Amino acid sequence: MPVVDEARLEAELFEVGRRLWSDLPAGTRNPFRAADEKAMELASQDAELKAALFRFVDVVPACRSLDDLARHLTGFLGEVEQPPPPIAVAMRMGNSRAGRTALGAAAATGVKHMAHRFIVGESPKAALGTLRDLWKDGVASSVDLLGEATVTQGEAQRYAARCDTALEEIATAARSWPPRPALERDSAGPLPRANLSVKVSALTPLLRPDAPERGKRDAADRLRELLRRARELGAHLHIDMESLDSRDAVLELVLELLAEQEFRAGPSAGMVLQAYLRDSPQTLDTVLEWAAGAGAGRAYPLTVRLVKGAYWDHEVVEAAQHGWSAPVFEVKADSDRNFEQLTCRLMDARPALRVAIASHNLRSIAHAIAYDRLAGGDGTDLELQVLRGLGDPLQHAIAAQGLRVRTYCPVGDLVAGMAYLVRRLLENTSNDSFLAEQAKGRPLEELLAAP
Ligand SMILES: Cc1cc2nc3c(=O)[nH]c(=O)nc-3n(C[C@H](O)[C@H](O)[C@H](O)COP(=O)(O)OP(=O)(O)OC[C@H]3O[C@@H](n4cnc5c(N)ncnc54)[C@H](O)[C@@H]3O)c2cc1C
Repeated sequence: MPVVDEARLEAELFEVGRRLWSDLPAGTRNPFRAADEKAMELASQDAELKAALFRFVDVVPACRSLDDLARHLTGFLGEVEQPPPPIAVAMRMGNSRAGRTALGAAAATGVKHMAHRFIVGESPKAALGTLRDLWKDGVASSVDLLGEATVTQGEAQRYAARCDTALEEIATAARSWPPRPALERDSAGPLPRANLSVKVSALTPLLRPDAPERGKRDAADRLRELLRRARELGAHLHIDMESLDSRDAVLELVLELLAEQEFRAGPSAGMVLQAYLRDSPQTLDTVLEWAAGAGAGRAYPLTVRLVKGAYWDHEVVEAAQHGWSAPVFEVKADSDRNFEQLTCRLMDARPALRVAIASHNLRSIAHAIAYDRLAGGDGTDLELQVLRGLGDPLQHAIAAQGLRVRTYCPVGDLVAGMAYLVRRLLENTSNDSFLAEQAKGRPLEELLAAP
C-alpha cells in the first residue's frame, strides 16, 4: 500500500488544480454564466423561488398549452413573497392572455433549453453524433436511458429491451470511431468504447426494502441478459446506485451475478460507491473482500465509480420522517473528506479493481490525480467521470492533460428526464454545491482548500 506524505499531496493537488483551472475553456469558469442559466443563479439565492421553480419544472410535461404553462408558472411564482425584478415582470405578463401565451412560450423554451443541456438526445440513435464528437475530442461516454422506478413488469421489460437496443447501436457505431489510445486501454487491458449505465429500479417493479430477495430475483434475469449482450458486443455495463433503500439489494445482485462462472470472461462491468453514506467504508470492505475472493480472476476487474451521492435531500427527509438518524453525513465537508479517503483506498486496491472518480469538484478531482501521481501512477489506471451539462468545461480540461475522462450522457425525452433534471437542479442550486461556490467567484485557492 503506497504511503503518501500529506504535505506533498496537498502541494501536488494545488499544482494539478491550478493546471486544470487554466485549461478550462475561456469563459467557462462561472458555470452559471449563460443567459438560460440565470434562473438557476436566481434560484440558488432564494429558497422560496427555488421551490417554486422546481414545482414548475415538474409540471411542464403535463401542460397542454402555452397558456396552461404560463398559468402554472405565474401561479407558482405568485407564492414568492418578494420576487426579484425579472420574475415580477414575468408575473405582470401573466395578467393578459397574449402575455400568458408569450410567457408560456418563453418558459417552454427555457425548460427545453435547460433539459437539452443535460440530456444528449431523445434516443440512443439521436445521441450517436454527440458521442462520436466527444470521443474525437478525447472524451469517452456512458449512456444512461432516462426513466426510472418502473411500476409494472411491462415497463421493466421495455426498459430492458431499450437497453439491449442501445448496447447494439452504440457498440456498432463505436467501431468506426478513430483510435484514442488513452481511452481504450489501461494496464489491466482493453477498455470497451461502448458503455451503458443502467438502473436496477428500472429493471424490476419489485425492488422494495421490505422484500429485497423478490426484487433481486426479478431484476437478475433481465440483468443477466444484458450482461450476456454486453459480452457479445464487447461493451461495458455499469450499474448505477440509487437511494439507500435499494443499496444492499443492488450491491448483492451485482456481486453475485458477476461472480457467476459464465461472466468470468466478461463483460467489463461496474458499480457505484456513494461517499455521502456514513457506512460507505464498510461497503468498500465488502467489495474488496469480493474482489479478493468470489470475484478474483475475472478477465475484467470490476470498475468502481466513486460518487458523493445524488439523493442527499431524499435520504435526510426519509430518515427524519421515520425518526431515524440520517444515513448520510450532514456536514458537506464530512462527505468531501470521506470521498478523499475512499479515493485513496480504491486506488490502493488496484489492479484488483478499476477506479473511476466521478465529480465536478475541482478539489476532489485534483486530489485523485495528485494521489495517483505520488503513488507512482501516470494516469493510465485512473478514470475521471463527469455529468453531461455540468462537467462540460472540466471534461475538456481533463482531456487536455492526456487523462482519461468519461461523460455520463442521459438519453430520453423531456417527460422521462424530469426526475433527473430536477435532481441536477436541486444539487446545483444547493448552498453546499461546489459549482455554486465556483459560480459565486470564490478564489481558486479557497476552492482547492482542504475540506
Ligand atoms: C459520471 C457520474 C455518475 C454518477 N452516478 C451516480 C450514481 O450512480 N448514483 C448516485 O447517487 N450519484 C451519482 N452521481 C451523482 C453524484 O452523486 C453527484 O454528481 C454528486 O453528488 C455531486 O458531487 P460533486 O463532487 O460533483 O460536487 P460537490 O458540490 O463537491 O458535492 C455535492 C454533494 O455533496 C453531498 N452533500 C451536499 N450537501 C451535504 C451536506 N450538508 N452534508 C453532507 N453531504 C452533502 C451530496 O452528495 C451532494 O450531491 C454521478 C455523478 C457523475 C459525475
